[in-house]
Amino acid sequence: MFASEANVEELISDFRLDGTTFRYSSFVPRLYNYVKSLGFKPGKILPSRAFCSDENQGYPIIVLAKHFGTFPFNLGRGGAVVAMDRHAPYAEHGEGLVIIQASHVGFESGEKSFGTYSRIHAKENQLGACCGKLSAIVAWYLDQYRIAQSDILVERCGDMLSLRIDNGLLRESRKDGLFLRLKRLVRPDVEGNYVPLHTHSTAKSFITSEGFRRQLADLEPDLQDGESVSIGDYLKPEMFYFRRNLDETVEGRHQQEHNLLYPMPWIVTSHWPLLTAAKINTQVEFDRTLRTVAHSPSFRDKCVFYISGLNIDISPKSGESFPTTKFVPWAAFMRDRKGKRRIIEQTELVALLREQSKENPDQINLEDAIRDMAEAESVVIEAS
Ligand SMILES: [Zn+2]
Repeated sequence: MFASEANVEELISDFRLDGTTFRYSSFVPRLYNYVKSLGFKPGKILPSRAFCSDENQGYPIIVLAKHFGTFPFNLGRGGAVVAMDRHAPYAEHGEGLVIIQASHVGFESGEKSFGTYSRIHAKENQLGACCGKLSAIVAWYLDQYRIAQSDILVERCGDMLSLRIDNGLLRESRKDGLFLRLKRLVRPDVEGNYVPLHTHSTAKSFITSEGFRRQLADLEPDLQDGESVSIGDYLKPEMFYFRRNLDETVEGRHQQEHNLLYPMPWIVTSHWPLLTAAKINTQVEFDRTLRTVAHSPSFRDKCVFYISGLNIDISPKSGESFPTTKFVPWAAFMRDRKGKRRIIEQTELVALLREQSKENPDQINLEDAIRDMAEAESVVIEAS
């Protein structure tokens, strides 16, 4: 789905958070009313969710159960990856199908920071990474990036600037690691080869390219002859990429990491890596799932509304039972009974949801439903 580097940057900035967020208590009734306006019949709508397995994804599920009058089908694998091999049983269980897919990220309202969440059931309410699965994936790449930031030195040799690059980063035969796009950083010789200016015991120095030298304009005046400094934040996402030996099986154990591999340089260099990773995972999953929803024979003769977005889990304060989860819509896809399809992009989707009422006369009272179940006449279970 990522055709170019510009495409990654555009996609990240297109997924806006300003003026696009809904509390779940407002999002779900609006979604219900919207699909009803499309002709979905009350009582015959089965929602499904593809969320991460964290306990903090439970509040959205409760709200979905209340407004749709049924527990949502579980269409998700850990890390909010859509389990496409469950399309057939899901489609069998409902007439109108509403799929909600969302990656998630924690938010601390005091610090106004993304990526952590207060685990109120843990000893001392400690802050934990959120999404924990994304954090575990991104940690290795962040580490590789930090090593490169410190192991590449900008040095002055007379009137030239050069880059002293650790040999470990230059070894092309590696299967895993951070690889530099040398053409963005250093000057080739007349034959287009990258020949070192100096060879050291564990590194090589190359003359910087004209383009990269311009990007070092702030740094250059402070650098004396023979002096060097780590490249640090001057190492930008378009200057490197990652390789990782991953299991390529579709929806296998590395599906989510696979989703993030190409855009990973933009994730590790972003201000909130886990927010960026969650947004990208949602975008890749939407793109990937849409085709199967559009073409799967399981959905023939069904109405399907598929919406993707981001769950922002705002840490509960002490005394609160659940997080105040917010939903940020990214895009939606609908397919009617006759196979007519439509994609709705973020701006239009937000406007469509805002137009809907957040009153839902069809919602159920969960307390009453639980009491009715407890008081219903007992059914005798007998094995014959
Ligand atoms: Zn998670």
